[in-house]
Amino acid sequence: MDRWVATTCGYCGTGCGLYLGVKDGRAVAVKPDAAAPVNQGHLCLKGLYEWKTLHHPERAMVPLRRHGRGMEPVTWAEALDEVARRIQEALASGGPEAVGIYHGGQLTLEEYYAIHKLAKGVLGTPNIDANTRLCMASTVSGYIRSFGVDAPPACYEDLDVSSLIFIFGANPAEMHPQLWQRILRNRKLNGAQIMVADPRLTLPARVADLHLRLRCGSNIPLLYGLINVLIKEELLDRDFIRRATTGFDELAGAAAAFPPERVAQLTGVPAATIVAAARLFGRSPDAVTVFCQGVNQSCGAVDTVTLINSLHLITGKIGRSGAAPFSLTGQASALSMREIGGGSSLPGFRNPENPEHRRQVAAYWGIPEERLPRRVNNINEMLSLINAGRLKVLWVIGTNPAVSLPDQGFTRRQLEKVFLIVQDIFYPMETAAFADLFLPGAGWGEKTGVITNSERRLNLVRRAVAPPGEARDDLSIVSQVARHLGAGEFMAWSGPAAVFAELKELTRGRPNDITGVDYALLERRGGVQWPCSSGSRGTPRLYTVGVFPTRAEEAQGYGEFNHPEGRARLWAVPYAPPPEVPDGEFPFWLNTGRIIEHYHTRTRTKRIPELQALVAGAYVEINLADAARLQVAEGEVVRVVTRHGWIEVPARLTEVVAPGEVFIPFHFGDLDPGEESRQQAANHLTGRNVDHLSGQPLAKAGVCRLEKLAANGD
Ligand code: SF4
Repeated sequence: MDRWVATTCGYCGTGCGLYLGVKDGRAVAVKPDAAAPVNQGHLCLKGLYEWKTLHHPERAMVPLRRHGRGMEPVTWAEALDEVARRIQEALASGGPEAVGIYHGGQLTLEEYYAIHKLAKGVLGTPNIDANTRLCMASTVSGYIRSFGVDAPPACYEDLDVSSLIFIFGANPAEMHPQLWQRILRNRKLNGAQIMVADPRLTLPARVADLHLRLRCGSNIPLLYGLINVLIKEELLDRDFIRRATTGFDELAGAAAAFPPERVAQLTGVPAATIVAAARLFGRSPDAVTVFCQGVNQSCGAVDTVTLINSLHLITGKIGRSGAAPFSLTGQASALSMREIGGGSSLPGFRNPENPEHRRQVAAYWGIPEERLPRRVNNINEMLSLINAGRLKVLWVIGTNPAVSLPDQGFTRRQLEKVFLIVQDIFYPMETAAFADLFLPGAGWGEKTGVITNSERRLNLVRRAVAPPGEARDDLSIVSQVARHLGAGEFMAWSGPAAVFAELKELTRGRPNDITGVDYALLERRGGVQWPCSSGSRGTPRLYTVGVFPTRAEEAQGYGEFNHPEGRARLWAVPYAPPPEVPDGEFPFWLNTGRIIEHYHTRTRTKRIPELQALVAGAYVEINLADAARLQVAEGEVVRVVTRHGWIEVPARLTEVVAPGEVFIPFHFGDLDPGEESRQQAANHLTGRNVDHLSGQPLAKAGVCRLEKLAANGD
């Protein structure tokens, strides 16, 4: 090895530290960083093989332009001219809403800042969203509603020391393996208890002290049931409730309608188990509730997040060691995106409807305040604008909507209608099949910047090797587009460190203040948790004195969220049954999700032979009893049908899913060469239902039927 470059894993939001080994200018190995505070010398499979994507033969090397049914190479000058011309034409004919940007959650903080500065400061478009809309949008809204801003309160050390880990709608054993190892170590060393709420018999559910096997779509009644028992049995911290919260009477009134017997009917969890779970939580001296897509992608997602927060607030289990609600982010830098103005806000967790916040950003950028959008359109709304002919140019950066967005039939029709610019590190990839223009980007290992993990830790990723061919990093591409649009000076930086220096000033005095951070500090300390203003050493836990950023001048939310003394808000949320429930035509619950072997839409992991060999295609998990009744054999290809579409995938017979439920991993596409022969993308089956508060699609509580195929496959 010529050298080992210290960096951070670019897959999940855990943020493991590792070294990337370089020999003769090529990345050839990865090894864990034993000193990294997050993973302490361990890595999962994805991290270990991460280097293999860097020199893959399908790395995109030159810009491409559509020519008939194919794509042909063009120069960067031609490509950038065309991007700028298309954007200018769209702005001239349709105004700012005629242009949209939809980006991924694995870019760097600096790249996000540049993209959002271009969108909001130059184009003034309301059409700017990220694929974190599919992932963390409901957590964002839930944190804002409860605590005032979108700041995860906990840190990983809480998983090491808490007496109770409540895993709610998450599967850290597959999605955040290093955090699961920390939870298991806590159990082994300290006797921590594990409680799991999940419809599936996941690995955490199998080893849990208590498993609440609720039905799909019933999170809200389950949480109300727990709160009902906690109140009835006075397992509360009355002093904390009085001192630090508002809205308890309303919450108690709403929870009174959910006694355990009623909750048992709504969720399928026995009443005695609900009582036992509430007692376990209430009597435990501390508790961490980790949650993920089983909350964010299910029914009433934002309301569910607020109830999880309330569970901790009414029992005083927040703001101290081992006690907090804790959202696990799916993507490496999803939280960076939220910090800098994604998730419908302005940089520094500012509220785009707060006149003072708008003034601050506009003044810092030197632009008229009116240019800043008051409200942004999420990707679902952007697709509707394309359908209506109002959004004419869509620029997709580092994400793959032709696999990941719900209702693929509708999505793909919109991708065909719009002038589509796709920027990615691989060609081919599914969304590029619809591209009019393709721009080759640089990937992890080829660029330097900051990524923020689930515990608010800013980590450095470093450039270890050069991007292949003519590929360029996203920051350079976005800056060059700005220059071609005549806004070069507005976005002229010497490199990512200069962007970081600019963006951190926009966090000064804000809840995510990072003015005390620079790259040298991150290198020295192996990451720092925000807030970290000048002179501070970072902040492992938030809300340690029971004061929350809900005052109007601080809060990211709107009027009704604010409290003049900085109290957290307890919400009496409504409960509505899932929009679809199993019936004679569609008798199964349909749950979609992730598996350990792959990452998102597999643009990277399907190109790693060791991972692809483990799981090469989509499948449907069917309970053994259902399979016997339908006479479906292991491995038999079945058709899964919903109101929105169909797929054909092999059956995997298992007790992981309950009778009456099926589960399908969403990672698999069906447009790339070699994969186009079978319609297998799970999002052919999902619809366009979204959470009314966050705009996040519902992916975990659909309904479907299973059809056996005739022997000849017809
Ligand atoms: Fe990477 Fe996540 Fe695995 Fe750590 S747990 S090595 S961050 S994929």
